[in-house]
Amino acid sequence: MKAEIIAVGSELLTPHRQDTNSLFLTEQLNKLGIEVVRKTVVGDQREQIRDAFKEALSRVGLVISIGGLGPTEDDLTRETVAELLGRKLQLSNAILRGIQERFRRFGREMPEVNKRQAMVPDGAEPLDNPRGTAPGLWIEHQSQIVVLLPGPPGELKPMFTTRVEPRLAGYAAGRRLYKRELRVAGMAESDVEQRIAPIYTQFTEAETTLLASPGEIQVHLRAWSEDVAAAEKLLNEMTERIRMALGEAVFTTEGESLEEVVARELTLNNSTIAVAESCTGGLLAERLTSIAGSSSYFLGGVVCYANNLKTAWVDVPAEIIEAKGAVSAEVALALAEGIRRRSGALLGLGVTGIAGPAGGSAEKPVGTVHIALATGDGGKERGFHFPGDRERIRWQASQIALDMVRRHFLYSTQTKAPAKG
Ligand code: AMP
Ligand code: MG
Repeated sequence: MKAEIIAVGSELLTPHRQDTNSLFLTEQLNKLGIEVVRKTVVGDQREQIRDAFKEALSRVGLVISIGGLGPTEDDLTRETVAELLGRKLQLSNAILRGIQERFRRFGREMPEVNKRQAMVPDGAEPLDNPRGTAPGLWIEHQSQIVVLLPGPPGELKPMFTTRVEPRLAGYAAGRRLYKRELRVAGMAESDVEQRIAPIYTQFTEAETTLLASPGEIQVHLRAWSEDVAAAEKLLNEMTERIRMALGEAVFTTEGESLEEVVARELTLNNSTIAVAESCTGGLLAERLTSIAGSSSYFLGGVVCYANNLKTAWVDVPAEIIEAKGAVSAEVALALAEGIRRRSGALLGLGVTGIAGPAGGSAEKPVGTVHIALATGDGGKERGFHFPGDRERIRWQASQIALDMVRRHFLYSTQTKAPAKG
C-alpha cells in the first residue's frame, strides 16, 4: 500500500515552523509496510487543500492529513474534504457533549466556535482525541482511505497509535521495509560513489541513497518485500559487497555512530583513553562520554588552549611550541603522549588546529588541524586542511580522531576480551 501525507497550515510555509508530524507518521507507516511516496505542505486555503487531496487521491490508496481541524476560521480541512468527497456534515451530539465536558473539566464554558469540531462528514468515523478537542476522522471512500489528524504533535501521536495504526495494520499485512545503513569515515563522497555505484546499480530491487555529512558518508539500503528471507538475503549480499569495495573505511553496517563503535572497541579490548584538546575544546571528551558505560574506558581530558597550559598540564615542551608553532604535528604528538603519561591511560589523543574564522596564515590556513594518537609504542600523527566553518572543522577533527582510535584496534595485537552473550 502506498500513502501520501498532506500537512495543512500556513505557518508550515514560513521559516518558523516545520512539518515534523510527517516524520513520525512516515516512520510508523513504514513499520506497517506502507510506503510514503509523497508529502505536500499547503496553507490554510480552501483551494490549496482541495487540490492537494484531489491530486493525492488520484495517485494512492491512503491519504493522511495533518492539521486544520481546529475551531477557528482558518481550520478548513474537515469542511473542504467533506465537500470534495461529496459528503454532508452532520452535527454529532456525542462529540459535542464530549467537547463540552472537556471545557467543563477545565472550568470553562465551550465557546460557540468549537461546535464546528463536532461536525462529521456522512459515513466518516470520528477518532476520539483524549488530549484535545478536535476528533480525527477516518473516511473510507470507494476503495481509498482518507484520515484526517489534528496538528498538535501531542494529540496526533497518541491518536495515530491507538486509533489509526490498528486499523491500517489489517490493510498492509505482509509488506515490510528492510534496511541497512553502512557508515564510512575518512573517504570523500565522490570516492564512495565511484567505488560502490557499479555494485548497487546491479541490485534494482533495493534503493540506495548516499548521505554526506562532515567526516562521514552514510550508505542507506532499503528494500520493500513480502518475503523476509529474500529481503534479508538481498541486503546482506549488497552490504557485504559494498563493504568489500570500501574496505576498512566502513565502521558500521548497523547505523551506529562512530563514538558507539569506538566505545565498543575500547571496552572489548579492555583499553582506556584520555584526551588533550586544543581546537576541539572538549568535543572529543563530550563524544567519548556520551555513551553509557564510558567510565570503563574514558579516564579524562584537558582542554589546553593557551600555550603555557599545554606545557603546564601535559608537558608539551615550550621549545617545541616556540620552534614549530602551537598548531603542528610535533605539538599534537606531545599532547597525545603527555596526556597518556599524565593520566595513566593506555591511549592518548591530542588535537591542535585553527578552527577560524581568524587566526589563519598563508602557511597554516584556517582548517589546519593536527591529530595524534599515542599508543605506548610510538605515536601516529595526521595533518589536515579541513574545509568549512568553525563548527564543521571542529567536528571533522573529532571524527578523524575517533576514527584513528577505531583503526588502531583493527591492527592491534592486544587480545580481545570475549564478546558478551
Ligand atoms: P491545527 O490542527 O492546524 O490547528 O494545528 C495546531 C498546531 O499544531 C499548529 O499551530 C502547529 O503548532 C502544530 N502543527 C500543525 N501541523 C503540524 C505538523 N505537520 N508538524 C508539526 N506541528 C504541526
Ligand atoms: Mg492550522
